[in-house]
Amino acid sequence: MTAPKLFIVVPCYNEQEALPITAKRLTELTDDMISREIIAPQSRIVLVDDGSRDDTWKVISGLHEANARFEGVKLAHNAGHMNALWAGMTLAAERCDCVITIDADLQDDVNAMYGFLEEYRNGADVVYGVRSSREKDTFFKRTTAQGFYRMMKGMGVDLVYNHADYRLLSKRALEALLSFGEVNMFLRGMVPMLGFKTAKVYFERGERVAGESKYPLKKMIAFAAEGVTSLSNKPIRWVLGLGALCMLLGVAMAVYVIVSLVQGHTVAGWASLMMSIWLLGGLQLMALGVIGEYIGKIYMETKRRPKFILEEHLK
Ligand code: UDP
Ligand code: MG
Repeated sequence: MTAPKLFIVVPCYNEQEALPITAKRLTELTDDMISREIIAPQSRIVLVDDGSRDDTWKVISGLHEANARFEGVKLAHNAGHMNALWAGMTLAAERCDCVITIDADLQDDVNAMYGFLEEYRNGADVVYGVRSSREKDTFFKRTTAQGFYRMMKGMGVDLVYNHADYRLLSKRALEALLSFGEVNMFLRGMVPMLGFKTAKVYFERGERVAGESKYPLKKMIAFAAEGVTSLSNKPIRWVLGLGALCMLLGVAMAVYVIVSLVQGHTVAGWASLMMSIWLLGGLQLMALGVIGEYIGKIYMETKRRPKFILEEHLK
């Protein structure tokens, strides 16, 4: 196998402090990989400026000028981490043999990329970078992250434990991913849907090299909510279930009410009120759930996801 053209996609949002350090590390890394013929000399590092408000774009233009290996992509507004990755991957897809996505803050160990490419050479189409431990995380981040994985599992969403968005995709896996038509994207839930041969590479995750986190709590919660609602219809089912439960309770309540009525120790109007509250409440919840089921179907349809993804075709 000839050395593959690797495109490294890096989303950057207000990363003027981290970028120079990151760029230097990635230059050294790719220099070494090229000289050892692990990757082709036409490999690229695609820096996507996600509508930064600081001097990120200036830094990126400077890097591009100094070294043609750096490509710059500037998004017109802050489209968000997932969309920035999508933009970079879309622009890389035509020219690359494989793509690796990595954050701009070098929290993910770049040396794991040797492992990624080794797995790729061995035939893997999707290689997940997985954190070997979360010891360096704060207690808060660790517990919320674990809770998140557990919740997603409960929702029937298949996630790779302790894997974020540090991964390698072969050209065909990338093309399959890009054929997903959804606008609301949660990449780490979508990639496992692709299938293909996968592998995992473990690495230690460090601290951010410079600057501060671009994921404050508010964005983290929004991100988790996106993960649930863009991949699962389960919350709608729960409404339906809750409605059915209320109806059942309503029937039990009706029996109780009628018995009390017959026994004669009720206040006037109590019986009819009680029954309407429970039965109507349950009915309403159930009706909402049924409507929700249809809306959920419409939602999934509008994603226009491919019905199948071809792995091989012998002809
Ligand atoms: N990022 C982005 N757009 C955003 C927020 C973040 O492109 O709106 C990028 C950011 O520059 C970084 C990556 O997404 O490369 C992950 O962000 P960060 O490291 O701040 O998240 P954390 O590691 O703190 O969860
Ligand atoms: Mg980070």
